[in-house]
Amino acid sequence: MWRACLELALEGYNAGSLGIAAVITDKANRIIAWGRNQLSDNLDSCSSIRMSSVAHAEINALHNLPQAYQGNRELTLYTTVEPCPMCLGAVAMSRVRSIKVGCADPHAGATNLLTQNDYLRRKRIAVSFEGGAVEKLCFVLHYVSIKGRLGHNPHHPILVKIKKRYPHYVHTIDAYVESSSIFSPGRLTYDSLHSVLARMS
Ligand SMILES: [Zn+2]
Repeated sequence: MWRACLELALEGYNAGSLGIAAVITDKANRIIAWGRNQLSDNLDSCSSIRMSSVAHAEINALHNLPQAYQGNRELTLYTTVEPCPMCLGAVAMSRVRSIKVGCADPHAGATNLLTQNDYLRRKRIAVSFEGGAVEKLCFVLHYVSIKGRLGHNPHHPILVKIKKRYPHYVHTIDAYVESSSIFSPGRLTYDSLHSVLARMS
């Protein structure tokens, strides 16, 4: 599941959107829907919603869910980055009741609403955060995407929040970005993404 998510997130990053993707699995762990962030590119991908402010990975995955699964409550959504309020709301309106998150988003992440909002709490949506290599790989893609959008001002409030949550990872990736061109959009591969892992341990 995570390999599928990361490959799709890479496609988004290389196409000029944010490197974020999601898949939905059924009870037997089969992937039944895909979606990726497609805010900024019109590539022919799995995403139905493109070039729109709502073209987030989770929205696209939920939108792609086959009709036969619309009422199924045993589905799990895997997403490389913690869902924003819009995507969390979309999950609540679907029948997906389990979310697995690659890495936290200290800026737009909204999973705290699952306990703080009465409506969402009643939905009983389980959320879990991955650790280890999955978290690192998802974070690398998210961080280089955001950094590419915001320029390289290290004092930007969003970058400051991310650095506060993942100080060691940010330091390592910043140093690698300066010494390598592997993160150039359009050129990042799954293998080169993996090469960052060794530096983050
Ligand atoms: Zn979202």
